[in-house]
Order: sequence, then C-alpha cells, then structure tokens
Amino acid sequence: MFYTQSTLDRADHIRKDSDTLNTLWKHDKARIVPVWHSKSLVAQSSSTVAPQAMFLTKENVPTSGQRVFLGLDNETPLFALDVSALDDEQSVALAALSTTRDGHTHPSEFADLRQAGPTLSAQDGSALAYARGLAYWNTNTQFCTRCGNAMESHNGGHVRKCTHSDCAYQAFPRTDPAVIMLVTYTPADNSPPLCLLGRSPGWPEGVYSTLAGFVEPGESLETAVQREVREEVSVETTEVRYVASQPWPFPRSIMLGFEAIATTTAIKCDPDEIADAQWFTREQLKEFGCWGDEEEGNKLPRPDSIARFLIDRWLAAAP
Ligand SMILES: [Zn+2]
Repeated sequence: MFYTQSTLDRADHIRKDSDTLNTLWKHDKARIVPVWHSKSLVAQSSSTVAPQAMFLTKENVPTSGQRVFLGLDNETPLFALDVSALDDEQSVALAALSTTRDGHTHPSEFADLRQAGPTLSAQDGSALAYARGLAYWNTNTQFCTRCGNAMESHNGGHVRKCTHSDCAYQAFPRTDPAVIMLVTYTPADNSPPLCLLGRSPGWPEGVYSTLAGFVEPGESLETAVQREVREEVSVETTEVRYVASQPWPFPRSIMLGFEAIATTTAIKCDPDEIADAQWFTREQLKEFGCWGDEEEGNKLPRPDSIARFLIDRWLAAAP
C-alpha cells in the first residue's frame, strides 16, 4: 500500500531528548526532507534516474523553518523541514543543492505528492507523505484552540504547546478517519457480479471510484460505511468488512478501507456529493483507463490510492 512504510523507526523515545535531536540533526548521515508550501522535493524525471525523493544534508540545510524529527531509517536520522518562507527563486536554488538518499546530485523540483507519489518507491513515498502531514499540522496549529495564544513546537515537532503559562494546553497531530468502501452485488440470476462506483462533481471527466466519507462522532466504522452509501446513492448494505487502511496526508486523513454487500440496487445520487454512480461488471472495469490518462472514456482512480487497491483486489478475485 502506498504511503505505508515498515522500515522507518519513528523512535518516539528520542523526541523528548533535545540534545540527542540536535546531535542527530548535525549527523553526517542525516537526511532532511524539505516541504515547501505542502510540495515535496523529487528528482526531475529522466531516462537515467528513477523517480525518487531528494534530500538536504547538514551542509546545505536552511537554518530557519519548522523542524520535525521523523525517525531513524536504518542508521539514517530523518527530519522534515518546512521551507515555505523561501520565495520561488530561493526554493529553486535550494532544490539545486539537494541530493538523492545516497548523496548523488540530480536536477530536482518541488512537486505535488499526489502527482509524483505513484512513481516513487514505497520508502520514499511514505517518507514524503509523513513529512507533508507533520508540516501541514505544524503550520496550521499556530494558535491555542483553548485561549488563542501562540503555540510553540515541542517533542521534535510532534507536540505543540500553548505559550501562555496559565493555559499550557498541548495539541497533538490530528488524523481524520474516513471510510472508503467497495460495494458489490451478485445478481440472483447468475449474471456477472457488479461493483458500485461513483464520481464526484469536481473530478476529471470519466473518473469513477469507490464511495467514501468521514466518520462522525458517536459512530462505528461499519455504521459510517452504511450511512455514507445510503446518503450518497440511496443503496442499503450489509456484511461490512474491514480490508486495509492507508495514511492519506491530503491533508490529514487515514482512509479505512471496507467491502460491503448491497441489499438494494436502485441508485439515487445526492447531487451535492455524487455526479453519477453506476454498477459495473469486471469486464467493463477492465476497459477503464487510469486517472491522469489523456484518452477519453472511463477511468479508474490513481494507482497510489486505497480506492484503486480495493477495486484491483475485487478484479483479481474473479471466480
Ligand atoms: Zn492556551
């Protein structure tokens, strides 16, 4: 699953140790992931260099900006640094100083991770997603939600604390749970099984994906799945089963992937959320292109998404 990483040790025990963090920041092997206005630094595509994340080192890292300790990737201390204070020209100059993970130079640029992510290795994709998520949270948690005073960074960028001594409220990075579900139906007359996909009003022409929505307070995940499907397309479901999850830092969700079986098939879309929804057979889906293709016709979601994972899983489970 994209943006999911197993080799990074988040080293929570080091976050409170500012002396060790400073030592690691100046370490020869330290690699710093710059984030500029939520954009990630990646090697420009070329025939000779694989798409990959680009890093700063202690020799070329700016001295200001929110710093976040991401963890230890084998022996490599990994940090994020928000460099959004740089103007366009300065960001290009900084990109020119960056190196690959193993220290090689290559032309690079700040790019939207949604565009670059699917081409990166799982290790790079997850590091950039993690850095992007923490940079976003720090940037958007400047003031105390309890008293309105300024917040400051603690624990290597993983806690923000109110600067007013009477308050001292602590804020932690927030992740919004969202459910995403592949709804299927097997007709009783032995005709081919179907899956339900829809499209949002703002999506590129022809793109269809699984339905999704945010979990509300006081609601189980299974209930959220059934409610969202009912609200968006008026279809009733049963046998809601968890499949997999994916961090989705665009800007701060975790996608919780489910399968569900439809007990009704008539579709009535909520026009505010769904421009169109249809039942598709596996044979029909195999003719779909992919989000981002230039060609006309129907398209599946991007390959880095859990939506695509759920659809591909269903396609592969053909009887
Ligand atoms: Zn406060």
